[in-house]
Amino acid sequence: MKDSEDSLKSYKRRRDFSRTPEPEGRPGKTDRKRFVVHEHHARRLHWDLRLEVGGVLRSWAVPKGPPEKPGIRRLAVQTEDHPVDYIDFKGIIPEGNYGAGTVDIWDTGGFELVEEKDDKELKFILLGKRLNGTYYLLKIKGGKIPGDKNWLLFKAKE
Ligand code: MN
Repeated sequence: MKDSEDSLKSYKRRRDFSRTPEPEGRPGKTDRKRFVVHEHHARRLHWDLRLEVGGVLRSWAVPKGPPEKPGIRRLAVQTEDHPVDYIDFKGIIPEGNYGAGTVDIWDTGGFELVEEKDDKELKFILLGKRLNGTYYLLKIKGGKIPGDKNWLLFKAKE
């Protein structure tokens, strides 16, 4: 696994911290495992699922939002790892900056990684207010958005 400092390079490269209120961030040393879903009113509304793994927040943009019930599959496009500090972030990213728009916390809580296979399958438990239970993220080939960042997000049957 890349070390977490390294994995934040892409996050930092995209942002000018004198112009955005987002945290500059350092790799986290916490053992707490949490998740957050940001509701992000950017050019297009989407939800960002972020899971605390290895001292950073691994992140996926979910255009239609994470499913609250089993039987619904949602496209989740992997985005750059975010610093752990970002878990509490909400506010307005000013016009002209990467991801400009309003960011709100839609759900947050405990997170437990159950299993990770070959960087293309994650099984995990979310303990939030809206999202609660076992979830899967599966990497897929193809999909609406070109490239190798497309995953499917769904909730396991109870
Ligand atoms: Mn976003």
